[in-house]
Amino acid sequence: MKKVEHIGIAVKDFTVSIPLFEKILNTECYKNEAVESEKVNTAFFRKGETKIELLESIEADGVIAKFIEKKGEGIHHIAFEVENIEIEMQRMKSEGFILLNEIPKRGADNKLVCFLHPKGTNGVLIELCEEIK
Ligand code: ZN
Repeated sequence: MKKVEHIGIAVKDFTVSIPLFEKILNTECYKNEAVESEKVNTAFFRKGETKIELLESIEADGVIAKFIEKKGEGIHHIAFEVENIEIEMQRMKSEGFILLNEIPKRGADNKLVCFLHPKGTNGVLIELCEEIK
């Protein structure tokens, strides 16, 4: 793992949360992207080496909508940048972690991603991500 690439935050409504985070971070949202497979809209902010990814559900039964129903708005996952996602997934698997997807998925912001099951990570949803070159 190289660094924290971004922190994902689940929010109910971009029209409220994008201006809010622009104020907090004192920088403009530089990218909006829908990830249809996850039924989610994303909004990105850059602060130094790390990004903040806001997540808003597209549909009432999406994973983010369900997360907010259970836990409310807030931190959803922490994403670590890796050099080679397949090697890192193999390493995690051999350490006994449960991968939520066995094959790297196409995520937002030009990334291949894989999530680790929070059961094995003290309740923290961890995303591995590799920049698509
Ligand atoms: Zn993410």
